[in-house]
Amino acid sequence: MKMSRLFVQTLREFPSDAEVISHKMLARAGYIRKLTSGVYNFLPLMWRVLKKVEYIIRDEMDKAGAQELLMPFVQPKELWEESGRWGAYGGELMRLKDRHGREMCLGPTHEEIITAIARDILKSYKQLPTNLYQIQSKFRDERRPRFGLLRGREFIMKDAYSFATSQEDLEKEYQNMWQAYTNIFKRCGLDTKAVQSDSGAIGGSVSHEFMVITDTDAGENDVFYCDGCDYAANSNHAVSKLPQAVVDGGFTESKVVDTPATHSIEELCAFLNVPASVILKTLVYIVDKKPVLALIRGDKAVEETKLLNAVGGNEIRIATSGEIEEMMAENGFNAIPGFIGPVDENKKPIAKYGEYKVTVVADETIKELKNFVVGVNKNDAHRVGANFGTDLDLPEIIADIRLVEAGELCPQCGQPLKVTRGIEVGNIFQLGTKYSQPMNAVYLDSDGKTKPYIMGCYGIGVTRTAAAAVEAHHDEWGIKWPLAIAPYHVVIVPVSVKDELQMSVANKMYEELLANGVEAVIDDRDERPGVKFKDADLIGFPYRITVGKTITEGNVEFVTRQTGEKEAIKPEEAVKNVIEAVKSVK
Ligand code: ATP
Ligand code: MG
Repeated sequence: MKMSRLFVQTLREFPSDAEVISHKMLARAGYIRKLTSGVYNFLPLMWRVLKKVEYIIRDEMDKAGAQELLMPFVQPKELWEESGRWGAYGGELMRLKDRHGREMCLGPTHEEIITAIARDILKSYKQLPTNLYQIQSKFRDERRPRFGLLRGREFIMKDAYSFATSQEDLEKEYQNMWQAYTNIFKRCGLDTKAVQSDSGAIGGSVSHEFMVITDTDAGENDVFYCDGCDYAANSNHAVSKLPQAVVDGGFTESKVVDTPATHSIEELCAFLNVPASVILKTLVYIVDKKPVLALIRGDKAVEETKLLNAVGGNEIRIATSGEIEEMMAENGFNAIPGFIGPVDENKKPIAKYGEYKVTVVADETIKELKNFVVGVNKNDAHRVGANFGTDLDLPEIIADIRLVEAGELCPQCGQPLKVTRGIEVGNIFQLGTKYSQPMNAVYLDSDGKTKPYIMGCYGIGVTRTAAAAVEAHHDEWGIKWPLAIAPYHVVIVPVSVKDELQMSVANKMYEELLANGVEAVIDDRDERPGVKFKDADLIGFPYRITVGKTITEGNVEFVTRQTGEKEAIKPEEAVKNVIEAVKSVK
């Protein structure tokens, strides 16, 4: 490809709406253009990268024995009603109607469709196990599309689904996919960590996410891990043992006392001269429009996904102070945040908020609290010396809703946990019969009985993986693509296109590289060398061969983008280096 013909427009600046490196770089280097919020054009350079990521995925999935198919992007409501997700999926599901008024959605994922295909075709145990996958655009109306390709609304995903007759076979396939994923990300130039995770909207019990570890904002997940053993988990699933803490408030009598202007836990601790661990903190959340009180030790925080799982809802957010005051007023109180509690000063539980019952959930660690401090829905007052059983009952729902913190102890080996951030590039789930059961997707087993398939599903964000590679490989000048997924392998830069010797050497190398299957670009533009070098660094060609004045001594400059290393070598050697490097990643 001649640089003068390459369909690319690099920008002088980063786009103003780009927050993370991959978005900034891909936009500035001419890989992507935004069409509308969370929806991008993949321009020729980007498309070459994506096709390479897809190639690696296909290669490893096929080697692992999975078979590729392609399902429709538009899906009928009926199948989503069968699985129960039409109502459950929430705002991310983009719903639409056809001209006959039939309801449809744009596929955010394909469990329903693949399960319907399976029940139609996989009728006998003899056809199982099997694993089917596709690579396709998905649409999710994300609440906060951001970070460019890392969290788009339309994005490309590889999704695979396995069908087995037993848990044992499912687990085998889970391990098989684990290995395939490890290979895929490695070939894409990414170091990943497999971490335990919550199963979210997809459902199922056991799941792992493959994380690219980063210390930047681009990592939307907190990952807790242990250096002492292999424990690693997403914060939405992480558990820990707590170090010793004071859990007895030491108050000898239960009574309501004045605590003026103690709006925060810190202010309350200072006023009563107690540690935060003896305060029962009450937080108000809204889960699917209904209020939920979360009770937790004052020195700990609530993990929203865990809380959501404990109450069994779809969407969760913290209540606004307006909503809290409104809820209090509906219950005959005028308390503001800071003074809320599960019971009032007369020990009467909060029963109702509007037409709904208030759900109360407690973190399991509060069971240890004694003679503690708690809000009583009265401004500037708290109960001190409170105890479960006498002053208030333990709520019906007690679960682990606590957000783990670094320094708490590993649940497996007891060493202090560490925290880092990760970009989830892929995940694997053991679904069990979550879809096959409700959708009546069954096969005839060897014992003559019909049974639902035991399923697994396995996703990789193709576009997110490419963006994660930029997060992992860049410097201030631009992208440093790993060779296997670079749009082109090498750029040849003649310093002066008017110099006949430089041009003839450059052209000869170019022809030879092409003849050997190398994807090469020759920068034939009549531009200053500085401009050409800048573009080469920004676009991120893994190798640059500069043909300049030293060609009169028989040398070119060979630059390796990843390391910045520069060598003066013979043109034949430069060509050979690139050919060999490219062979090694094919
Ligand atoms: P997340 O927690 O980041 O929203 P998810 O759990 O919803 O991801 P899955 O539904 O399991 O993700 O999708 C499989 C893969 O698709 C993810 O591992 C991720 O790489 C990719 N992916 C999911 N949502 C997006 C998105 N909005 N933009 C780009 N890639 C995405
Ligand atoms: Mg999601």
